[in-house]
Amino acid sequence: MTKTIDVLVVGAGFAGMLAVHNMRKLGLSVLGVEKGADVGGTWYWNTYPGLRCDVESVEYSYSWDEELQQDWVWSERYSAQPEILSYAQHVADRFDLRKDFVFNQKVVTTVFSDKDNTWTVTTESGEVFVARWVIMATGALSAPKKVDIAGASSFQGESYFSTDWPKNPVDFTGKRVAVVGTGSTGIQLSTFIAKTAAELFVLQRTPSWTVPANNQPLSAEYVAEVKKTYASERERKRHSMDGLGLPGPVKSALEATADEREKHYQFIYDNLSPFTFFGSYTDVLVDDEANQTISDFLASKVRERVKDQALAEKLIPKSYPFGTRRTCIDTGYYEIFNQDNVHLVDLLESPLKQVTATGFETEAANYDVDIIVYAIGYDAFTGILNDVDVIGLGGENLREVWKQGAKTYMGAMSAGFPNLFLVTGPQSPSVLSNVVVSLEQHVEWISGAIEYLEKNKFTRMEASRTAQEDWVAANNFLGEVTVHRNSGSWYVGANVAGKARVVLPALMGVGPFRAACTEVANDNYKGFILAS
Ligand code: NAP
Repeated sequence: MTKTIDVLVVGAGFAGMLAVHNMRKLGLSVLGVEKGADVGGTWYWNTYPGLRCDVESVEYSYSWDEELQQDWVWSERYSAQPEILSYAQHVADRFDLRKDFVFNQKVVTTVFSDKDNTWTVTTESGEVFVARWVIMATGALSAPKKVDIAGASSFQGESYFSTDWPKNPVDFTGKRVAVVGTGSTGIQLSTFIAKTAAELFVLQRTPSWTVPANNQPLSAEYVAEVKKTYASERERKRHSMDGLGLPGPVKSALEATADEREKHYQFIYDNLSPFTFFGSYTDVLVDDEANQTISDFLASKVRERVKDQALAEKLIPKSYPFGTRRTCIDTGYYEIFNQDNVHLVDLLESPLKQVTATGFETEAANYDVDIIVYAIGYDAFTGILNDVDVIGLGGENLREVWKQGAKTYMGAMSAGFPNLFLVTGPQSPSVLSNVVVSLEQHVEWISGAIEYLEKNKFTRMEASRTAQEDWVAANNFLGEVTVHRNSGSWYVGANVAGKARVVLPALMGVGPFRAACTEVANDNYKGFILAS
């Protein structure tokens, strides 16, 4: 039987939960549809050992309810996955959100009707919903990249995927283990597995920059201090470049003396989030030479942390500017390479040929292992949306439209797909920011738009193609004038074979993005076509 509602929200992560809550507040009928069995999104799906957030827990949490942020107490500077999942579950209980969700339902198609401006949404099990507005709160890092390594299915040992971790703990004790991938996930997994594995082979193609997390329990005094000014501090951060409100740049890196730079970078390294490096000096994101000063500083840290200097050189990223790949935080990652049981397999030196029945083979050697762990990343931004048949005007499938490169206006809508809002969509800041701050802004803005449309009896909202082209061109321009021009990461879709290259995150920064969105809203949603 078809169920009709005002708003359908896809996803029960942080964005989906807030969207359902907001739609209820507007007095609209709303239904959330979630593939998993419960709320939590990323933190529901990702359960691999060692998983921790790389944004401080007091920041990586909702700011839209003062009582919630005053009541909830985080135990550590950087929370581990179980604590973040408990937080999401607490929010769902506290605001009774589950009653407006259906779980274990994967959306497979959503088709727009040009006649009555509704979307018909169908799930894998055949449930059908009709909604006037759809909010895709599906996350930017939700669709795992498919394994693209020859022979992977021929392996006779145990294979695990970071994005689909088994419910029961995996015992690595005394085993020979290979970890493929050295992004945030691979770094966390390898650090954990190195503790007990007989041998760990870390298969590295592109090294990441990673700095010590300096994780620690949060004292009651610190928590009390944060809570005193929580609301005002969060307001300040909403208007900052990264959503974290980290100290901004004071001058050019090239004008600073080497000694000044060293002290400044050391202070950041010891005390602040690694994201602070982006704003450490005015020119580090635009000038290659200035940018290189950060890489040089961080390289010296790798050389300090890794005893074998030839090995340290292999672990130091040299093929891309700092900031064009996610900087990671770790708890002893480089130090595992000082252990006898840990071996770096440098795939740039000897490319991976294939996975075999007993292990893997590079151009230089064969390795036998008991377990292979894949931490190979995501089809970021577009993968999860392309997994659904999203059929818009003229029967066009979003997947086909985005084949030439994903395009949106303000990350919120793609032209040709009216009434379909995206959260953390392409060309929104999301992954280049504290994503909770960004997704709150996206959901608040979408909620404001829906409220406006309802009040003014509009039944349709669509991104204009001109506005979209301008928005995308402006972001691409920022890609060209910043170090992102030399990016080869998932930020530009480079990690997935055949994916069109386009700068996926908005580069303008969280505060300016918010200001641009607010201006558009205040100008009666300029750049969007509204119709009754
Ligand atoms: P990722 O950064 O994309 O890293 C994937 C790794 O797998 C890369 O080292 C990649 O090498 C390698 N790889 C992929 N295909 C390969 C192949 N065929 N052969 C050999 N190596 C291959 O993915 P991720 O580590 O899952 O992280 C993605 C993002 O998720 C992070 O940047 C972060 O935003 C988020 N995340 C956050 C946390 C946290 O909060 N601490 C934890 C995990 C993830 P190449 O680069 O050479 O392709």
